Amino acid sequence: MAGLYDVDRDALAALLEGEPAYRARQVWEGLYRRALLPDEMTDLPLTLRARLSGGLSPALDERRRRSADDGRTLKWLWRLPDGAEVETVLMRYDRRTTVCVSSQAGCAMRCGFCATGQGGFARHLTAGEILEQVLAAARAAAPERVTHVVFMGMGEPLANYAAVWAAVERLHDDVGISARRLTISTVGIVPGIDRLTAAALPVNLAVSLHAANDDLRNRLVPVNRRYPLGLLAEACTRYVRTTGRRLSFEWALIDGVNDRPTDAEELAAYVRPLRAHVNVIPLNPTPGFPARGTDAEGVARFATGLRRLGVNTTVRDTRGVEIDAACGQLAARPA
Ligand code: SF4
Repeated sequence: MAGLYDVDRDALAALLEGEPAYRARQVWEGLYRRALLPDEMTDLPLTLRARLSGGLSPALDERRRRSADDGRTLKWLWRLPDGAEVETVLMRYDRRTTVCVSSQAGCAMRCGFCATGQGGFARHLTAGEILEQVLAAARAAAPERVTHVVFMGMGEPLANYAAVWAAVERLHDDVGISARRLTISTVGIVPGIDRLTAAALPVNLAVSLHAANDDLRNRLVPVNRRYPLGLLAEACTRYVRTTGRRLSFEWALIDGVNDRPTDAEELAAYVRPLRAHVNVIPLNPTPGFPARGTDAEGVARFATGLRRLGVNTTVRDTRGVEIDAACGQLAARPA
């Protein structure tokens, strides 16, 4: 049986052989624009719904759903058909509804502070498995519509570029979310940043930096040994110059590690030439990493220091932190 969101239009048409041509369009729109499962498409004859349900199967099996912020934040743990597990977060605000998706089961980047990295890599997700996370969250959010998607869940999106980009195109073309409301985060995979620089759709790029000197970054983000800060800055410069788009950097504040005034100075010196925006957030605690996240006062102090140094800075909403829903910190844990 084919994955619900891994079939393309031709495969869907083949599945609907013998039906009028408009049916394929109708089902496609039902799946993507209306976020319906086949058996919810009540404008289709019952026999056709049964045929679709028999030929297309969802990839995500809900293992657990947790709720926070009075139900405005939801986090799912899904099991995939091969037993791999991934997580998705839905965050509803007054004027935006954001889904944070995983792009890989596990992650090979091994950032020391990250629960996903500590668990190692299982496999890449398919484009359909990424899309299904958005559409499952869209069903839960209805009647509100999903307005933004961030690729900040489990995995390094630019290490799974083909599937991530196929999902981006379908979110843009078929779900109808503007590319400017799609954000791909990366820990700094330089060839992937170059591919995004040349890509046709103007998605946003967020680089998880966390340290602005190579010694510290080598320890926190091991891929820095392969793509050190100098190479990363060059790729970011090409991105900004070629696309004219704003770049943002993520900085998870770790108590006594990267939240000192000297860290703010190094960060400011790194991002100012790029005119980039910085989002700071306290690190979520993870069992395998001994340091703690910076407290609220320290976060505010660091952000003020950065602003004084001329950096456009936002303290990122800690929505969902209580359910571990922060960038790169999703991990399958026992309930
Ligand atoms: S922070 Fe992101 S890139 Fe690093 S190990 Fe975690 S999921 Fe992977």
